[in-house]
Amino acid sequence: MRYMPVPDYHMHTPRCKHAIGDVREYAAAAIAVGLKEIGMSDHSPMPDGFDAAWRMQRSELGEYLEEVEAVRDRFADKLTVRIGLEADFHPGTEDYVHELIASYPWDYIIGSVHHIRDWGFDNEEEISRWDGQDIEAAYCEYFGIVAQSARSGMFDIIGHPDLIKKFGHRPPADSRRVREAEEQMLQSVRESDCALEISSAGLRKPVAEVYPHGRIIARAAELGIPFAFGSDAHAPGQVGHAMADCLAMLVSCGVKEISAFESRQRTSHPIQQIG
Ligand SMILES: [Zn+2]
Ligand SMILES: [Zn+2]
Repeated sequence: MRYMPVPDYHMHTPRCKHAIGDVREYAAAAIAVGLKEIGMSDHSPMPDGFDAAWRMQRSELGEYLEEVEAVRDRFADKLTVRIGLEADFHPGTEDYVHELIASYPWDYIIGSVHHIRDWGFDNEEEISRWDGQDIEAAYCEYFGIVAQSARSGMFDIIGHPDLIKKFGHRPPADSRRVREAEEQMLQSVRESDCALEISSAGLRKPVAEVYPHGRIIARAAELGIPFAFGSDAHAPGQVGHAMADCLAMLVSCGVKEISAFESRQRTSHPIQQIG
C-alpha cells in the first residue's frame, strides 16, 4: 500500500554527538523521498551534566536554532521545516526543561524517556545493567515515567512510547501488571491531550519492531489519541524511514488522521492512500 507522505517530526543533528548530517542534508533527503514537511528535534540540553554525552550543550542551542531557521527559510518553497526539540523527561529536571521550552517559540516539543532513575536503559553502553533486571518491573516503572511525562503538560508528542523494548527484553506476554501500566500511560496521554509518536526507529534496533507495539497502537486508537510520525533519523538517509509501514499499522487500527504542528498548535490531516 502507498500513502501520501505525512510529516516526519523526529530527526537529529551532530550536536547530539551521535548523529550525522547537517540540517540542509536532512531537508534535501526529505525532498528526495517526496516529503512535504519535516521537523528537526535534536536532543535537548539538560541541567547539571545529565546524560551530557548524548545531547547538545545549552551553549549550542542558539546555533541549532539559527541553522534550522536558515534551512526553513531557504527551502520554504519546496518543504515545510518545523522547529522542535526532543526533550528528556526525567523527574527532578522539570523546572529546567520548562524554562528551556519557554525560551523559544517552538513548533512542537517531543517528550522522551530514556532513563529509569540513573539507568540509561536504551544506551548500548549500559546494556549490561539489563542482566538480572526484573523486566516486568522495569517495564512498569518505565510506563509510569512516560505517564508522568504526559501529565507534566510540557510536551506535544510522546516520543517512541515503548522504547524500553529496544534491545528485545520482554516481560511475560500475559503480564497483567505491564498491561495495566500501558493502559495508565495511555490514559495519561489522552487526558493530557498529547499526540503519541509512531516511530520507525525500532525497526532499526534489535527489537526490529515499530514503537509502540501494535497492541498499544490499537488501544490508543480506541481511546482517540492522535498520532504523529517520527523516523528518529540520526542520518539523512533515515528520513521518512518505513513511513508506509507505520501508516499501514495506523490504518489497520482504524486511525484515519495524522497530526501536524505549528507554533505548538496541533492539526489533524487525513491519511491518504494512493495507487
Ligand atoms: Zn538520539
Ligand atoms: Zn529518543
